[in-house]
Amino acid sequence: MADLIKQIKARHPIGSFVASYTRGLKSSGKGFMIGFCPFHKHSYKRPNFWVNLEKGICACFVPTCEAHDPPMDVINFYARLKGLTNQEAITELGKDFDSSQNRRVIVGF
Ligand SMILES: [Zn+2]
Repeated sequence: MADLIKQIKARHPIGSFVASYTRGLKSSGKGFMIGFCPFHKHSYKRPNFWVNLEKGICACFVPTCEAHDPPMDVINFYARLKGLTNQEAITELGKDFDSSQNRRVIVGF
């Protein structure tokens, strides 16, 4: 399991992974990116979702947001976004490695 998690994180660098779900994600200083939180029901005028590339975590600045605390890694992020448990997220993200079966789930967003 630890290996699979490591593989998932290697395969899905947090910056590009979060960028595919987060509007306007841009580099903001060394090792950080900022964009619009994908967990808000309402839109905010200012970017409020941060990614720490070095630590591989992300979270929202807004204290009332469900994604505020604790910070998430790619697995937690994906699980929360899709309403999955972490285990389900690991299974789903891990599926991509098995190209022989070619049964990658296309998730609409
Ligand atoms: Zn938020």
